[in-house]
Amino acid sequence: AEAATVTETERLVRGGRSRRQGLRHQLLPVLHSLQHEIGWISPGGLNGAAQRLGVPPADAYGVATFYELLRTTDPGHRDDVVHVCVDPVCALAGGSELRVSLEAAGARVHASPCLGQCERAPAQFIQGVGRPDRVPADDAGGEVFRLPQAGSPTLRVLRRVGVVDPTSLDSYRGHGGYAALAAAIEMGPDAVIAAVADSGLSGRGGAAFPTGVKWRAVADEPGPDKHVVANCDESEPGTFKDRIVCEHDPFSVIESMTIAGLAVGAPHGWIYIRGEYPKATANLESAIAQARAAGLLGDDVAGSGQRFDIELRRGAGAYICGEETALFNSIEGFRGEPRNKPPFPTTHGLFSQPTAINNPETLINVLDIVTDGPAAYRSLGTERSPGTRLFCLSGRVAVPGLYEVPFGTTLGELLDLAGGPVGSLAAVLLGGAAGVFVGPDALDMPLTLEDAREAGATLGSGVVTVFDDTVDFESVVVRIAEFFRDESCGQCVPCRVGTQRQHEVLVELQSSGGSLSSQRAELIDDMAVAMVDASICGLGHTAASAVRSALALGLIGNSS
Ligand code: SF4
Repeated sequence: AEAATVTETERLVRGGRSRRQGLRHQLLPVLHSLQHEIGWISPGGLNGAAQRLGVPPADAYGVATFYELLRTTDPGHRDDVVHVCVDPVCALAGGSELRVSLEAAGARVHASPCLGQCERAPAQFIQGVGRPDRVPADDAGGEVFRLPQAGSPTLRVLRRVGVVDPTSLDSYRGHGGYAALAAAIEMGPDAVIAAVADSGLSGRGGAAFPTGVKWRAVADEPGPDKHVVANCDESEPGTFKDRIVCEHDPFSVIESMTIAGLAVGAPHGWIYIRGEYPKATANLESAIAQARAAGLLGDDVAGSGQRFDIELRRGAGAYICGEETALFNSIEGFRGEPRNKPPFPTTHGLFSQPTAINNPETLINVLDIVTDGPAAYRSLGTERSPGTRLFCLSGRVAVPGLYEVPFGTTLGELLDLAGGPVGSLAAVLLGGAAGVFVGPDALDMPLTLEDAREAGATLGSGVVTVFDDTVDFESVVVRIAEFFRDESCGQCVPCRVGTQRQHEVLVELQSSGGSLSSQRAELIDDMAVAMVDASICGLGHTAASAVRSALALGLIGNSS
C-alpha cells in the first residue's frame, strides 16, 4: 500500500527507499563509536550495529567503507592515528618534513586531505583510539587564539570571535548574545523572513543562493516536519572559517539556527560538522546543552511557545558530504552520495522533508539583520553583494588567518590587510581546489559575487591561497587533481573517470618536464566539458576549474 502512495518525486529522492528509516540515522554515530573503541570496525561490531538499527549488514558495510576516518580492516595495532595534511598549503609549510619526523618518532601517520587548519600549517589531527581525538595546535602550550583583526570596529560576523568565552552562555549574553532571538520572536516569522530577503543576504558556502528565498520556500511548505541544518562540513582545501567560528563563537551558530527554525516553522535543527574538528564539536555540544538548560532550545524556546532543538552529527572524513544532499544522506545513515536535483531541499531535504540548510557564516549574518534591520546591513558591501565576507588567507602571505571585509574590497587590499604576499606574487587560488587561479593582474578585482563571475573566477567558500614564484605549480595541480580523484563519490561516470584521467594526464605532464601536447591539453578540456555537462553535483562541475586556469595563466604546461 505504501508503494502505491510514493510519488515519483519521492522515488527520485529516496531511490525507492521507505520514508520510515527507524533508527538508521544513528548508524554513523554508532560507527564512530566502534571505530573509536578499538581503532577499527570489526565484522562482529558492524553486524551487531546493523542488526540493532535494522540496516542490512551489506548496506552498513557500504556506509562504513565510504568514510576516510572509518576502517573496516584490522590495522594490527591499537595506537592513535596521526593524520597529516598533504594539500598545497601544508606542503608549502613543511608537511612532508612533519610526516617524516612523526614517522621517525614511531607515530602511525596517515596522509590526509586538508584538515582545515591552513592558517597554522602544517596541520595534523590525532584520531584517538580509546581516548579523545585532538589537534596538537589546540593544546600546544595553551596556545592563545588571536584573530588578526581582533578589536577592529569593522567586524560583524567575527565581532565576538576571540572576545567572548566560547564555553559560557553568560559571556555570550554579556556581549549582546540572544538579543537577536528576542527581537525575532517579537517580530514574528514573516517579518524575520522579509528582513532576511530585503537584506540581500546570500549563502556563503559557495553557491550564493539568496537566503530569504530559501527560507520563504521552506516556510511555505505545509506540515510540521521541517528541518534547519547548519552545514559545518567545510572540507574545501584552504577553508577553515567554520572551524574558527564554531570554536570561538558557538552560541552565535545556535542562536541564528534557532531564529531560522522559528522563522521557517521547523522544530528540528541539525549541525553536521567535520569529524576532524574536535574542539569546535566540543564547544558546540556544550553550547547546545547550556542553551537547552536555559530554555533557549526545547519545547518552548525563550517563552515563544514554539519548539526547536538541535542534534549534532559528526562527519567522518568525506569532502563530498559538504554537498547538501550528500550531507542529508550521511545524516540519514546512507553513503554520503549527492542526490539529483530537483527536487530541491526546500521541499525534499533531510528525511525527504522541507529543509533550510545554511553555512554558519550565512546564519550568523542573520543576527545583525534582525537587530539592526536590512538597511543597516546593506550599508556595507555593494548593491548586488551586500554585507561582509569572510576570507581564509593562507600560503605565501605575511599573516595567514581569517579576515572579514565588506564585499567590494579588492583582492590587493585584502592581501595588504594580511601583511601582503611573501616573496614575488605568482598567483592566487580563489575558492579553493574547486576555484580558479588568478594572476597578479587581478589584485584590483573587487571581491564581489558579480566581479568574480565577470572575471571567470569565484569566491567559493572564501579561500584565498597565495603562491609566490618559487612554488612548483605542477605539484600543486597534480595534488588538486589527486584530491578530486580520491573524493569523487563515483556515482557518475564523467566524474569518476574524468577525475582519474585528469590526474593521469597531469602526472604525465609532470614527468615530461612540463611539456603538454596540444592533444593532451584538448583532452583536459574535453573531459572538463563532459564533467560540467553530465555530473550530478558541484564536485564534477568544478574538478577541472583550477587545472584549466593554471594552464590558461601559463603556470603549468608549455604547450607543444
Ligand atoms: Fe559523485 Fe562526482 Fe557525480 Fe558528484 S559529480 S555525484 S562527486 S560522481
